[in-house]
Amino acid sequence: MLQNIEKTQEDLPTLFLDKGDAAPKEWFTGTVWVNINVKPDEGYNANIGTVTFEPKARTNWHSHTSGQILFVIEGLGYYQEVGKPIQLIQKGDVVKIPKGVKHWHGASHQSQMRHIAMITEYDKDKTEWFEPVSDTDYNSFKAPVYEVENNLSAKAIMNHEQLWPEYISKAKETDPDLIEVFDNFAFDEVISHDKMDVKLRTLLIMASNIASQSLTEYKMFTNAALNVGVTPVEIKEVLYQAVPYVGIAKVIDFIYATNEIFKERNIALPLESQATTTPETRFEKGYAKQKEVVGDKIEGMYKNSPKDLLHIQRYLSANCFGDYITRNGLNIQTREMVTLSFLIALGGTESQIKGHIQGNANVGNSRQDLINVMTQLLPYVGYPRTLNAINCLNEILPSEQN
Ligand code: MN
Repeated sequence: MLQNIEKTQEDLPTLFLDKGDAAPKEWFTGTVWVNINVKPDEGYNANIGTVTFEPKARTNWHSHTSGQILFVIEGLGYYQEVGKPIQLIQKGDVVKIPKGVKHWHGASHQSQMRHIAMITEYDKDKTEWFEPVSDTDYNSFKAPVYEVENNLSAKAIMNHEQLWPEYISKAKETDPDLIEVFDNFAFDEVISHDKMDVKLRTLLIMASNIASQSLTEYKMFTNAALNVGVTPVEIKEVLYQAVPYVGIAKVIDFIYATNEIFKERNIALPLESQATTTPETRFEKGYAKQKEVVGDKIEGMYKNSPKDLLHIQRYLSANCFGDYITRNGLNIQTREMVTLSFLIALGGTESQIKGHIQGNANVGNSRQDLINVMTQLLPYVGYPRTLNAINCLNEILPSEQN
């Protein structure tokens, strides 16, 4: 046994952490080291090398006909495909570069970056080199500001940038400790938990902000939602849906604030109508939509209602569902997640949370989808409301593992 290990040690051809040799100047800007670990002439149909970029160093623009895979093993860097914004990459990231796409990779302004670069199908590859990445292009990324001034993780910076590209937080001057822990938690740890689509995430956080009555945070997230491509119609639909669940008294200021934001962005009001019912059809269509969400239980709700409270059942069908949930602009799966987000943020709504966890399941949202909703809302609604919602989830849709 020991003999074998010794033999293996003896045969180790390359130490990949070795920086290697200076990279050819005509293809790189700044100080770059290249260590080719697996050469094609060793009999592999691959070219694998470790590349170390000192701060600000980068490749020229180039393309690989058979694509390239980068494993970032150290530091913080940038990756950009032609026509797209610069992406921040950090230790642990795997970058899959498409075949033939013009791109560059390199270190960030402040940190060294080391990646393993892998070209498979080497026999089919041709790497074409173009012009250097100009300082203007390189400096177009805003990360240096954060890198210098905060101890924020690369993912936190990247996710924050995505939501508010031009925003420089004033809070980081007055409350740096809080911003460091909150931004690293909310914009890295929590967002990294699942792969929830950024549009859905911002929409649900917005919904929870209405129910929490947090106007400042709501405006931040409405702007973020528009920045990532949520449509004005989708935003208005969340607001209108808040009326039956949260009450007009709590929603009206948020409608006014939204209209101000739309005005600043030259979004003309009113938006195109999304109504699908009329006074004549709202009960019938609402009842049908309610049945889709609630299931056959709806018949019992009418049957078991005292006569002097039947009007409330009719309101739920015609008004809550018929006037609002039947509208276009959001599909029923999203609407049920939005409702759940209102209920979680409101608090004291455990009975309705349970009903709408079942409702979510009835329209096709899974336990995992709802765990993701609860996880993404946590930084904005706090632990007690999140834990209450999780208790409801475990009761209605128990984990299959335990
Ligand atoms: Mn490349």
